[in-house]
Amino acid sequence: MSLLVRGASLVLTQNERREVLRGADVLVEGGRISEVGKVSGRAGAEFVIDGKGKLLMPGLVNAHTHLGMTLLRGYADDMRFHEWWAAMRSIEAKLKAPDVYWGSLLGCLEMIRGGTTAFADMYFHMDAVARAVKECGMRANLAYSMVDFGDGKKRRSELAEGERFFAEWNGKAGGRIACSFGPHAPYSCSKELLVKAAEIARKRKARLQIHVSETRKEVFDAEKAWGKRPVEYLDGVGFLGEDVIASHCVWVTKNELAMLGRSGTHVAHCPVSNLKLASGESSPIVELTNVGGRLTLGTDGAASNNSLNMLETMKFAALIEKGSRWDASAMNAQTVVDAATVGGSRALGFDAGVIEEGRIADLVTLDVRMPNLVPLYNAASHLVYAANPANVCDVVVGGKPLMLGRKILVVDEEKVVEKAEEEAHKLAGRKKG
Ligand SMILES: [Zn+2]
Repeated sequence: MSLLVRGASLVLTQNERREVLRGADVLVEGGRISEVGKVSGRAGAEFVIDGKGKLLMPGLVNAHTHLGMTLLRGYADDMRFHEWWAAMRSIEAKLKAPDVYWGSLLGCLEMIRGGTTAFADMYFHMDAVARAVKECGMRANLAYSMVDFGDGKKRRSELAEGERFFAEWNGKAGGRIACSFGPHAPYSCSKELLVKAAEIARKRKARLQIHVSETRKEVFDAEKAWGKRPVEYLDGVGFLGEDVIASHCVWVTKNELAMLGRSGTHVAHCPVSNLKLASGESSPIVELTNVGGRLTLGTDGAASNNSLNMLETMKFAALIEKGSRWDASAMNAQTVVDAATVGGSRALGFDAGVIEEGRIADLVTLDVRMPNLVPLYNAASHLVYAANPANVCDVVVGGKPLMLGRKILVVDEEKVVEKAEEEAHKLAGRKKG
């Protein structure tokens, strides 16, 4: 399959030099970018996107979400964290695979429309999430979320399910699906589960996903139980590393930041969810980047965000740092764009996130002739401070168009929306079990 973006007004390459090209073509062959610049004599590409008036860029990467929670969007708002958590636990007990499937398809459509091409997800009923990814054409790193609360029998069954899911789906959908291992959090998993999950993942060269230091309570409890803060504890059991995506990391000290930086752990910062649940208004992401830490961005699930809008998350990521530090230069647009593209791709283990020859072609275009993006002095600035999902025109994953001219090509959008609405109301009214 070949695809040509002809004459893009602007190309935000995100290459080493962070070049922005004007009036450039990008040719995609066999799922990868084969030429950038002036492409001549290739009028025969299967798909041609007219790039006039468009900004072409690498697709956004959502490094932390739970698509299975999409049907719980708006189900429990304006509650304190522990009340929200209790509401989630009680409705999650009623959640069945079809709910997760329709919620995941709905979430994928929302992400495609918002310019996101890849995401990391951990939850349960993960086969349903994988099916949705396969059908909608996105790229994803998926983990079955494991908890044992110290119960040995539960630990064995959780690890077995994690391994089964890995064996079934890793590398599937033409390589668009990678599987990882997802011990939920240090407070919900025993040390044995954390260690074993890391050992299994590393043997398979797979990623690990985990929640870390999302709330202050979690840190107090950790200090009480282990005499260590969560990141220190994870470092002590040999969990941290370049293959780990640690979500949130709101309440971390300088010492913990050094551990995250040194180990190459990817931190998935979820500013909107953290604010909405009042987990913490500011994460030390400036300090993290100062110690060479690997910053990525995530929305978290639609039950705590309540959207999967990465452009919004990018804006919040920048504004929170400015506002909370009384310093408008504390976080700049380019750092945020880096976290949402190259940083995210690297975290998930995909060779995308940059527009250069040889890279996987996960691309999006934005219509920069829409009033809210005029005039345009700086592309990165517009992405973070001015753009919204309505500006996203075309979305391509692995060279295959998922959306062209705002028309979804991969699934019947109307049917997904209808089914999701119907299933959500059934779920909310369903008795437990
Ligand atoms: Zn989460």
